[in-house]
Amino acid sequence: MKLNKIFYALAFCSVGLSWQASAQLQNADVYEYPGAGQENNRYYINIPDIDGYETLKCDFHIHTVFSDGKVWPDMRVDEAWNEGLDAIAITDHIEYRPNKTIINADLNKSNEIARKRGAQIGLIVIKGTEITRKKPLGHLNALFVQDVNKIDVPNELDAVDEAVKQGAYILWNHPGWPNDTSTIYPVHKKLIAQKKLHGVEVFNSTESYPKVLDWCNELGLAHFANSDLHYTSANMYSGKLQRPMTLVFAKERSEEGVKEALFAGRTVAFYNNNLSGMEKYLREIVKKSLFVKVINKEKGVIEVCNKSDLLFQVRYGKLMYSIPLHPNQVTRIELASGVDVTFTNCLVGQDKFLVTKLW
Ligand SMILES: [Zn+2]
Ligand SMILES: [Zn+2]
Repeated sequence: MKLNKIFYALAFCSVGLSWQASAQLQNADVYEYPGAGQENNRYYINIPDIDGYETLKCDFHIHTVFSDGKVWPDMRVDEAWNEGLDAIAITDHIEYRPNKTIINADLNKSNEIARKRGAQIGLIVIKGTEITRKKPLGHLNALFVQDVNKIDVPNELDAVDEAVKQGAYILWNHPGWPNDTSTIYPVHKKLIAQKKLHGVEVFNSTESYPKVLDWCNELGLAHFANSDLHYTSANMYSGKLQRPMTLVFAKERSEEGVKEALFAGRTVAFYNNNLSGMEKYLREIVKKSLFVKVINKEKGVIEVCNKSDLLFQVRYGKLMYSIPLHPNQVTRIELASGVDVTFTNCLVGQDKFLVTKLW
């Protein structure tokens, strides 16, 4: 009888709570702001599509609590959606899992949780992992893997081979970390020659590696900019377009579309208002972003309308410094027809910039 009384008391409490949660409170003790916590916002990132391809904003290097990150996998998906991304990869370390005594899980688990959330909210989540070895090999992300458990083998090159066997795209992470030296070792050249290593991070977290730009040109590696998030994104980057991202030019907006584009090398790395990539892709982005209106042909007065969210920096003629072409603004400049313009935020090699004409 006594138990029954407790039961009825609890039942009454829970009815009371659910009513409170669904109604707007406004009394002498509590005021709940209307709509607070109800909406979910996403940055709309305006970076143009290029001919025949959709420009997808992606981050292929993210950690969760399942390795040494601080965030649960499904929140990584929400965070990326809020920040305007189209696709992410969850890439927990295989060999470094400080939480494993607390979270005793299969190596595929973080991806399972994230992919389920991705399917719910329409964000592409690519199954990945980080093969975490000492230099010279260093850290490699294997993307589009089937079973991470099978990649957990003692020999580092066996791990790479198993990932390749599963159809993985292999990406070389942060070549300048942890010793502040960017070195391409024979093992990397061998993996590239064997077509097992396909891309490299030009930007990782808040670092960049200028030498890597030349390796991309010489060895045909695709350019990447990834966050390598361990903490929340808001801890690291504040506001729109602050987080590093890899632009992927995809035939379709799908996991398959991303995979096809990566293997075809159609990427541009973007961080801190710098774009790095093959000249043909950077030229296309500039062409699809900037629109010129001639005001005075004889005097070379033009208006340049930047219809993208990208902040371009340009230099031409006798200018000793770059001037900005602000996003979503019109800039009036004096520039004669046919003059070469150097885009100092568009990197095509180490200390090499995109040069093109505006009109
Ligand atoms: Zn790493
Ligand atoms: Zn990492």
